[in-house]
Amino acid sequence: MKFWNREVETMSRDALEALQLKGLQKTLRRVWGCEWWRDLLRKRGMSDPEDVKSLDDLRNLPFLTKEDFREAYPLKMSTVDRRELLEFHMSSGSTGTPVVMAYTKNDLNQWADTMARCFTMAGLEAGDAFQIMPTFGLFNGGFGCYHGCRKMGLFCVPASSGNTERQIKLMRDFRVKGFCSVVSYVPRIIEKLDASNDPDIPSLRVGVFGSETFSDEMRKKIENRLHIECFDIYGMTETGGIGTTGQDCSAHAGIHVWDDYYITEVIDPATGKNVPDGEYGEVVFTSLAREAMPIIRYRTHDISRILSREKCACGRTHIRIDRITGRTDDMLIVKGVNFYPRQVEQALMEIPGVKDEFQIILEEHNGMTDVTINVEAEPGVTGHTVAKHLRERLGFLPKGDVFPVGALPRSEGKAKRVIRKKID
Ligand SMILES: [Zn+2]
Repeated sequence: MKFWNREVETMSRDALEALQLKGLQKTLRRVWGCEWWRDLLRKRGMSDPEDVKSLDDLRNLPFLTKEDFREAYPLKMSTVDRRELLEFHMSSGSTGTPVVMAYTKNDLNQWADTMARCFTMAGLEAGDAFQIMPTFGLFNGGFGCYHGCRKMGLFCVPASSGNTERQIKLMRDFRVKGFCSVVSYVPRIIEKLDASNDPDIPSLRVGVFGSETFSDEMRKKIENRLHIECFDIYGMTETGGIGTTGQDCSAHAGIHVWDDYYITEVIDPATGKNVPDGEYGEVVFTSLAREAMPIIRYRTHDISRILSREKCACGRTHIRIDRITGRTDDMLIVKGVNFYPRQVEQALMEIPGVKDEFQIILEEHNGMTDVTINVEAEPGVTGHTVAKHLRERLGFLPKGDVFPVGALPRSEGKAKRVIRKKID
């Protein structure tokens, strides 16, 4: 069992929480010293950073949003002198003004440290060849991997994105053991390999995939075809980039979030209230050691739940959250119950005989929403069985029918699971 930093990664929960409170208080003092932050926090009801005396007090603080990042473009959020900055990354998104994340020397060290923890957790060690397929540039993926490789002493293959044939040639020629990419790129690699005379890359053992959600089925397919183990790395521009907020370990029992660097909360996106562990909601992060651009209660829009605060089979004590199941934009509210298409998918897949295709139809009339969930299944699966299970798992009883395989409409590309109708 390998750790990058055994002491920190296996620290007791009490010790981690003591560290978190210290980091939180330090971070609050830091942002209070920055005009942009002080204005924002005051406007949202905070009067004194010294009021925060316990981790529970965090719940009284205002949230930070992506819009705040945009408003602060380019560097209004930075709490350090411009001359202390060494690097920045940026994501553009679809709505114009970009989100910037800038780094001091310590911030870059922290990034490299979290990446080294993730790579080690994936089974890599110094001297292994690692191919970086995310782009090197304003996007954080390429550089994040690079900082991690340098820290760990991996042999870095800085391929960047594109040119699948060359990617494959590099993996072969430099006997690459691990690679990082977006998961949706992997089928392209497999396609090219399948079409070649030499369909295997024997040195490959590890795939690290970030910035997209993927199903367990997809994971299994990639693992079986490439004979590798897949890891789900987590992090976004606003938290400091790829890997900053963690990854799953070889137990694959959720994503370990680095508790010494971030506090993780899960809130009800509609009310902003914290939900109990185990319940789905929006993930919110507070950074504890970032210098240039700390975050306080940043709303990620990612949907997950806290799986465990107990020690994991891998020996790590850091909190585990579920792999990201979607975005708050996908959230459905029916009869006062929040749920997500991915939860329906999970609940359906638990019923023996139920197949992959399903539809969620929302019919709105007179301000009320009716839900119909249609699913394909093998003969013998009854509507009653499906309804009973969905009621247990979702907390309400949807209407719906069971259809034979092939009966529900197929869509090209990304499956359209949710259909909204308005009835007057
Ligand atoms: Zn673990």
